Amino acid sequence: ATPGPRFRRVLLKMSGEALMGDREFGHDRRVLRQLAEDCAAVHAMGVQLCLVIGGGNIVRGSTLAAAGVERSTADYMGMLGTVINALAVQSVIEQHVGIPTRVMSAIPMAAVCEPYIRRRAVRHLEKGRIVIFAAGTGNPYFTTDTAAALRAAEMGCDAILKGTQVDGVYSADPKRDPAAERYDHLTYLDVLARDLKVMDASAISLARESSIPIIVFSVHAPGAFARVLRGEGPHTIITE
Ligand code: UDP
Repeated sequence: ATPGPRFRRVLLKMSGEALMGDREFGHDRRVLRQLAEDCAAVHAMGVQLCLVIGGGNIVRGSTLAAAGVERSTADYMGMLGTVINALAVQSVIEQHVGIPTRVMSAIPMAAVCEPYIRRRAVRHLEKGRIVIFAAGTGNPYFTTDTAAALRAAEMGCDAILKGTQVDGVYSADPKRDPAAERYDHLTYLDVLARDLKVMDASAISLARESSIPIIVFSVHAPGAFARVLRGEGPHTIITE
């Protein structure tokens, strides 16, 4: 295999739902441990690592809206959910694989984690700590995908790794259509023009403006995170 590009600093984005495993809600012990091991493998390659985790396993904006909660409030509740996930992931990374990890929240929560301060986040990464960015962008009407692209740009990341249910971007839903084909390479404009469900449009635009490649791969395959950074294993890469 040809050696993949050398990544100095990357950001992994995964949804909150991925943390549930087969459960209906919350966190699955196996999934958390596998995530910690996958992060440790990448950390051992000397790659500086940032994480952004969604909140869908705790609260969903649409469910709250259906319950009569006003939109912005529902979004703030969603952001708090991402802090809960960040703390779970921090704890399992530190206990299971022993890598110092910092949670930095876009909404200051002094008793629970650090506030997000860009230069301090960079310092943590330089010292080899894993940094988990929590509470999204800190603003309602945004998503954790956009937060991932924003933080990746601020941190000067070499790539955004988007861990999904399947191992890349397909021409149709591979779980339903056996003829669906995985794309090896797409452009940002392909994704936007064809409305491919990779990340939301503002996240794609932000990544494009900062020329940060997005690599889509399966979060369920153990070790896939390190493999795709070596240019191996199935994935889709999105560039200019
Ligand atoms: N959210 C927000 N602003 C942000 C990031 C997240 O308001 O910058 C809220 C929004 O309500 C969203 C929820 O937090 O639905 C959880 O994030 P997301 O849906 O992106 O999580 P995922 O689907 O990745 O689990």
